[in-house]
Amino acid sequence: MALMNNARLGIMAQSVGLSEAAYREGHAYASERKQFGKAIIEFPAVYEMLALMRAKADASRAMLYETARFVDMYKVLNDISKERKLEPEERLELKKYGKLADAFTPIGKGMTSEYANQNAYDAVQIHGGSGFMKDYTCERLYRDARITNIYEGTTQLQVVAAIRHITTGTYLAQIREYEDIDYKPELFILHQRLMDMTDRYEVAVQRVTDAKDNELLDFQARRLVEAAAHCIFGYLLLQDTNKDDRFRHSAEVYITYGQAEVNKIYDYITYFDLEKLAYFKGYVTLNP
Ligand SMILES: Cc1cc2nc3c(=O)[nH]c(=O)nc-3n(C[C@H](O)[C@H](O)[C@H](O)COP(=O)(O)OP(=O)(O)OC[C@H]3O[C@@H](n4cnc5c(N)ncnc54)[C@H](O)[C@@H]3O)c2cc1C
Repeated sequence: MALMNNARLGIMAQSVGLSEAAYREGHAYASERKQFGKAIIEFPAVYEMLALMRAKADASRAMLYETARFVDMYKVLNDISKERKLEPEERLELKKYGKLADAFTPIGKGMTSEYANQNAYDAVQIHGGSGFMKDYTCERLYRDARITNIYEGTTQLQVVAAIRHITTGTYLAQIREYEDIDYKPELFILHQRLMDMTDRYEVAVQRVTDAKDNELLDFQARRLVEAAAHCIFGYLLLQDTNKDDRFRHSAEVYITYGQAEVNKIYDYITYFDLEKLAYFKGYVTLNP
C-alpha cells in the first residue's frame, strides 16, 4: 500500500476536481431549467442536493490539503534526515507525520472518491432525462468518476488500510486535537455537535473492538472508517470557517449530514450482535 501513497493522493485530487465540476454543472443547469413556472433550483429537493454536493466538494478539498500537508511534512523531514542527523524533536515529528500520512491517505482516497461518485450521480439526477444523454457534460463526469473508487485500490481496500488507525486510535487522537483548537464563539454549536459525533464514534469503536472478533471488525470496518471521516471532514470545514466565513454554509450542511450519518452508524453497531453475522454470511455463501 505504501508504494501507492502518491498515486492515491493523485486520485484524491482527481476526485476533488470531479466533485467540483459535478456541482458546477448541476448548479448551472438547475439555475436555468424551469419547471412549474420556476427555476428548479428553487425546489427544496433540488437545492438540498446541490448544497450537499457543494459541502462534499469543499470537505473533499479540505481533506486533500490536510493529507498533502502531512505527506509534505513527512517528506521534508525524511529528506533532511538523509543529509544530517535529526534532532530528537524532529525525529518525533517525522514519526508523527509519517503516521498521519499513512492514516489520512486511505480514508481520504476512499471518501473523496465515493463523494465524486455521489456528486456525479446527483449532477445527472438534477439534469433529469437530459443527464442521461451525451449532450451534457455531467454524463461524462459520471463515467469518469466511476473509476476513482476502483483504481489504486478499491474503497474496500482503503478500508483495510485504514482500519488499524481506527483500532490504534490514530484518527481519534487527531480528531481530539482538532477539538482543542480555539473556534469563534458563533461556531460553538457546530463545535458541540462535532464533539457529540466524536463521542458516538468512540463508543461505536469500543463496542466493535470489545467483541474481540476479527470477522466482526472487518464487517463493521467501513462503517467505522466513515464515522471517523465524518468527524474529520466536519472539523476541517469548521477550521476553514474559523478563518473564512464563506465556508459557513458548507460546514453547516456537512455537519448536519455527517451527524445524521454517524448516528445511523452508531445505531447499526449498537443493535448488531455477533450472531447476526451468520445471517449475512450464511445467506450469500449458501444460496446460489
Ligand atoms: C482504467 C484503469 C486503469 C488502471 N491503471 C492501473 C495502473 O496504472 N497500474 C496498476 O497497477 N493498476 C491499474 N489498474 C488496475 C486497478 O488498480 C485495479 O483494477 C484495482 O486495484 C482493483 O483490483 P482488481 O480489478 O483486481 O479487483 P479485485 O481485487 O478482484 O476486487 C474485486 C472486488 O472485491 C473486493 N475485494 C478484494 N479484496 C478485498 C478485501 N481484502 N477486502 C474487501 N473487499 C475486497 C474489491 O473491493 C472489489 O469490490 C487500472 C484499472 C483500470 C480500470
